[in-house]
Amino acid sequence: MAITLCPVCRKKISTRAPRCPHCHEDVSGNDPELASRQRSQQRKKSNAMKIQLALAMTLLVICIGLMLLEMNQGKPLPSPWYIGIGLAAAAWYVVTRLRMFLSHR
Ligand SMILES: [Zn+2]
Repeated sequence: MAITLCPVCRKKISTRAPRCPHCHEDVSGNDPELASRQRSQQRKKSNAMKIQLALAMTLLVICIGLMLLEMNQGKPLPSPWYIGIGLAAAAWYVVTRLRMFLSHR
């Protein structure tokens, strides 16, 4: 018996269960409306994550650019703001990548 995620409430359920024991949604696969709703939800989620990836990447590139600019102007260290925001953007990127990877399993 395998375990899957309920497409509606995202809780763990058996693949054999015709209905989710948590939210009582029909998960037997005989509900075409649910299947298409699930697909469009997944598409929306993956699009949102792609946008987040692009934003995080843009932020990271801007921060690195600003840091390089500062170093070119002869400062020994870039502003801690750029380092902080750059690190946050990098972390955001990695977390979003991880979430995409997990949701595609
Ligand atoms: Zn459910």
